[in-house]
Parts: sequence; C-alpha cells; structure tokens
Amino acid sequence: MYLMIDWHTLFVNDLNVAYALEIALRTILMFAFVLLMLRLSGKKGVRQLTIFEVAIIIALGSAAGDPMFNKDMAILPSLLVFAIILGFYRLLTYIAARSVRFESMLEGDPMYIIEDGMFTLQEESDNTFAKDEFFAEMRAESIEHVGQVRTAVLETNGQVSFFFYPDGEVRPGLPVLPKPYSKRSKIIKTHGDYACAYCGYVESRGNSGQCTRCKHEEWVEAIKTLRIG
Ligand SMILES: [Zn+2]
Repeated sequence: MYLMIDWHTLFVNDLNVAYALEIALRTILMFAFVLLMLRLSGKKGVRQLTIFEVAIIIALGSAAGDPMFNKDMAILPSLLVFAIILGFYRLLTYIAARSVRFESMLEGDPMYIIEDGMFTLQEESDNTFAKDEFFAEMRAESIEHVGQVRTAVLETNGQVSFFFYPDGEVRPGLPVLPKPYSKRSKIIKTHGDYACAYCGYVESRGNSGQCTRCKHEEWVEAIKTLRIG
C-alpha cells in the first residue's frame, strides 16, 4: 500500500490573496460577534466555569468557527445560532434561579471534601475526584497538612473553598507536600502520630495495620505545623 498525500491540497488548496483577505474580514467579524455574545450573556469572567457554561462555550465556538474560513458559509446563519444559544442559556439560567433541583441537575452540587480535618469517605468512593489534583489545590493555598483545615468544599465551578482551624485547634494531619507524602508506607516501626494516606485519619500507633476509619494500610508521619500566610 502506497499512501499518496497531496501536500498542496492539504496545506494550500484554493487559498489566494483575495480569499486570505476575505478570511481576515470574516475572522474579525465573527470574533467581534463572539465578544458581543459573551457580553450579552451577562457573564463577568471565565476563570472558572461550570459544566453548563463550558457547554455553552463549545456550542458558541463551533458556530463561530466555520464562517471564519469557509467561503460557502454565510455569517447570518451563525448569528442565528448565536441568538438561539443565548436565548436558551437565558431560559435555563432563569429556570435554574427558581428551582434548586433544576440548578443541581444543570451545574452539579457543591461537595464536601474535608470535614473535621479528614477527607470525607462517601465522596472518596466517587472516582471522579482526583486526590493529587486536590493536594495541588491545597498547596496553592499554602496548606501544609490536612489537620489545618476544618472544612473544604468543592464548588460547582471547580474552585475549592477552605475553612481553617484557628492556630490553637490545629491538629496533627496528613502532609500534602510531595516529599513527605511520597514517604508513605505500610510499615511503621517507631511509635508516633501517623496519618492514613487515604483518608487523613490520624492515630497514635507503633505498628503497621489498617486505618480504623477507612481500612486502608498506608501511613504517613503526621505533622502539626501551623498555617502561615
Ligand atoms: Zn483511613
């Protein structure tokens, strides 16, 4: 089998100066319409998006892209798609503002990740929750170990809200820095406070074995540093 690739058709095809200028005009127009559309949607910024908002952006992007470079695509049908997306978006947010159930169907629910300085267990069985990503999130907030955190909630836009223990109530906890966490082990030789590498439960122990809370067997030496910054 010999595969013939026509490089000219692949890269250039019928591109010429006139067509290139038309592409420039189409792109500028569509870009301006996308900007206008996003302003009309009422969104202030897009640092964090809910699933619902991502769906809107994808739909919008695909409607905007074709008329930028496809000679056979007129701009008006795309604008019609924009108007429909905007109208639909407005309708769904209108309903969501009036129905808690509909809102949670559309955007999901906030999820407790840490309670009382430990990872919650019922959410942990949910495989969609990535712990290493969450550890990175904690480090970004200058959190050194889970014992500093009373409660953490994963919001529907992907952001995590942290609520801290006051200094006097910080307890020994599971370190989230890569170096100490990578030293987790099933073997415990010396007596001390150890945090379950899975759920963050801290026990004073001198031998290996299962976590009394979640039955996992990997341990990390607990630390009790205070939160600074
Ligand atoms: Zn555990």
